[in-house]
Amino acid sequence: MVSCLALLGFGVAFISLCRLFFDINSGLFLVSFQVSEMRKTKFIQQKVRQFAFIGRALASTGHPVLAHLIPMRRCNLACGYCNEYDHTSSPVPVERIKKRIDKLGALGTSIVTISGGEPMMHPDLDDIIHQIRKHRMIAGLISNGYYFTPERIKRLNKAGLDNLQISIDNVEPDEVSRKSLRVLDKKLRYLSEHADFHVNINSVIGGGIKNPEDALTVARRAVELGFSSTVGVIHDGDGTLKPLSAKEKDIFQQVKKLGNKDHARLNWFQDSIAEGKPYQWRCRAGARYLYVCEDGLVHWCSQQKGYPGIPLEDYTMADFDREYKTEKWCAPTCTLQCVHQVGILDNWRDPQQAPGLTKPEGSLKDTIHEVLRAE
Ligand code: SF4
Ligand code: SF4
Repeated sequence: MVSCLALLGFGVAFISLCRLFFDINSGLFLVSFQVSEMRKTKFIQQKVRQFAFIGRALASTGHPVLAHLIPMRRCNLACGYCNEYDHTSSPVPVERIKKRIDKLGALGTSIVTISGGEPMMHPDLDDIIHQIRKHRMIAGLISNGYYFTPERIKRLNKAGLDNLQISIDNVEPDEVSRKSLRVLDKKLRYLSEHADFHVNINSVIGGGIKNPEDALTVARRAVELGFSSTVGVIHDGDGTLKPLSAKEKDIFQQVKKLGNKDHARLNWFQDSIAEGKPYQWRCRAGARYLYVCEDGLVHWCSQQKGYPGIPLEDYTMADFDREYKTEKWCAPTCTLQCVHQVGILDNWRDPQQAPGLTKPEGSLKDTIHEVLRAE
């Protein structure tokens, strides 16, 4: 009976994943047939590599699938909900970052996504991307979009960037966020014209976002420009699980349809969150997913910093195995798409046994910060 269920789980995971083309900038699985603006050869090469890593991830649980790497905390913006930036820190020296990438390569990591702060402010970003590609890992980037010029995009093409994700919070800038369609539209047009890499535009809904219809406007513009689009469902402002309003649900469904069906299919958890219900799954943070902060420490994720808090250079497969098996207390209300999607690879196998940490204060609020920031 158990092996039948495991087989069924494997089948569901395999079929779902094989339907996909994988957008890796934040670990998101996406179908992206919007190739009009991508160089076709590179597109096909990317898809072959993506299928290869999905096959490898299904065949073996013994390596990280996705790592988020932070080369600097500094940001040019100051979004009202964000606790992931400062305005003073220096970039981490490139040689130190390269060593971290080497270690991620040695652990067998498939995808490294560079995040921040605003990673486009790092003076050696191209070298960092190049180092990821040297290890034959897939290179992704999460950015607020402000620094894209035709010349900068061409340099990213040359460095070998595979995927970019930009999160757009609203249409018009307001006191909370300037990650706004009106401000960024010119940058999106540059990307549409010059980027060889895959571009995904993410919008958000729920959590008291002022104008839910902005998500639809953002998604429509993304599709119009040949990008893929995704939508993140977030908790209410106080961190509680509340169902979306009828209007928000309607917009959520419309944005999902615009984006792509397979992405929606892989984000079953979002339907539970939209209904205000917890979702049962196995979070493999600390193992299949790693968050490496600017100090080079491994954390479960950006909102569960401090555990395990081990320097990446000292991280071993014993750490990996322990975290793989550790049940995370925060899983039922977690809205992080990328970690959920990594979890799909193993949800059908290896039940987690040990209970995780005791819930720290303020953790759900931090979840909101992270989802708005990057997803
Ligand atoms: S918040 Fe989400 S991703 Fe982070 S450890 Fe908890 S369940 Fe995993
Ligand atoms: S959400 Fe992104 S762009 Fe906004 S302050 Fe945080 S790191 Fe900067």
